[in-house]
Amino acid sequence: MLVMPLIFNAAFYRALREPFVLWHSVLTFSLLMTIFVTSGLSVMFFDPPAMTLSWMTTLIFGITIGSGSMFTYSFIEPGKMHPLLRRILPYCAAWALFLSVFHATFPFVGRPIQSTAYTAAFAPVLAVFVFSVIDSLCRGSRAARFQAIGYTPLALVGLIRLVTGLAPWLYTADAMLLFYFGCMFEVLFTTLGVAERFMSIKRERDGARNEADLLERLSETDPLTGLLNRRAIERQFERLLEESFTALAIIDLDHFKAINDGYGHGVGDEVLQAVAVALKAGPNVRAYRLGGEEFLLLLRGHDVDVQAEVRRQAIPATVANAVPGLAGLVTASMGITPISGDESFTALYERADKLLYEAKSAGRNTTHSTIPATQSSNSIPMVQAIVASPAAAMAGTG
Ligand code: GH3
Ligand code: MG
Ligand code: MG
Repeated sequence: MLVMPLIFNAAFYRALREPFVLWHSVLTFSLLMTIFVTSGLSVMFFDPPAMTLSWMTTLIFGITIGSGSMFTYSFIEPGKMHPLLRRILPYCAAWALFLSVFHATFPFVGRPIQSTAYTAAFAPVLAVFVFSVIDSLCRGSRAARFQAIGYTPLALVGLIRLVTGLAPWLYTADAMLLFYFGCMFEVLFTTLGVAERFMSIKRERDGARNEADLLERLSETDPLTGLLNRRAIERQFERLLEESFTALAIIDLDHFKAINDGYGHGVGDEVLQAVAVALKAGPNVRAYRLGGEEFLLLLRGHDVDVQAEVRRQAIPATVANAVPGLAGLVTASMGITPISGDESFTALYERADKLLYEAKSAGRNTTHSTIPATQSSNSIPMVQAIVASPAAAMAGTG
């Protein structure tokens, strides 16, 4: 049963590389070894000589106290333990390890007081440990609560041994059964604590990640139209190429400045919002607002030029519907070019922009394209009814 926490810890550590998970594993392992050595299980397996058993017990005790201190050191939440106590804990761990190694290596150098000195030398470590848990409890640490409950049976064992050892009228009891139960209880409760802590750290990290994602999405979204912005396309460009987008179009409204001048900036904004609706992004068409009254389309499929042209031509009617009261129709010019795999976004953009400039020079409300004839459909459905003269788009003419 005590092996389970080790398996859990391995899984936790894969997900969250927190040191307290490792220290909990060492602590669990050493408690496991404590039970193994003191319960006679070891005798069943390899029947060690009494001396071997003695130094093993000493060493394992040192490792238990050391890893327990380090577990507390790394497990208590930041800010929930007095900094001094936290700083002392690693020294306690080192001291416990040193004591046990020394005592196991030279068990008789300090006879006859060595055993007493050895036990007494652990007292400050235990005191620091107990203070740390109590201090953390007072500061509202959840981690300390799991530890405090976990250590209760073992503390009880210590108390029973102390009282029955000191009081001459009582039989000395080592409360071995309670001790084994205490070891298990301690491991299980701290495992619960580790699991809970794991969940809360994970929640925190997921929350932070979601927030970062949200901020990133906001920074890549144009607040006026809800379309993605230039930053988004530049960041996603490599991935979009892998998604087989084959054409890039730039659409710019004709004489838009006149709308702002004639009707005000607010109406200009409404027009831009209506244009975003007309551009109608879908599975094969991504729409972006590059800035001002300039939009970009990424297209894929067998009729990219038709898809783009239909959208450009939908602008006048969509705007007229959404923003009634404009004297003329709002038209747009477009430059469209195929995407060849190894080109940078800047190079593609410059080519499409040049085509757009040609379309503007040719009188506006038209498209200039370098989409090859095979890919291009010659039967682009020109919606003549909604094609207005550029002059008609001039706002405030009436
Ligand atoms: P052309 O046909 O040559 O493209 O002429 P144009 O008037 O459309 O282009 P120009 O670059 O002269 O003017 C663009 C205007 O777009 C100027 C600027 O004030 C306006 N504009 C840019 N961003 C916004 C915006 O977010 N809202 C509004 N209402 N206007 C904007
Ligand atoms: Mg313009
Ligand atoms: Mg412009």
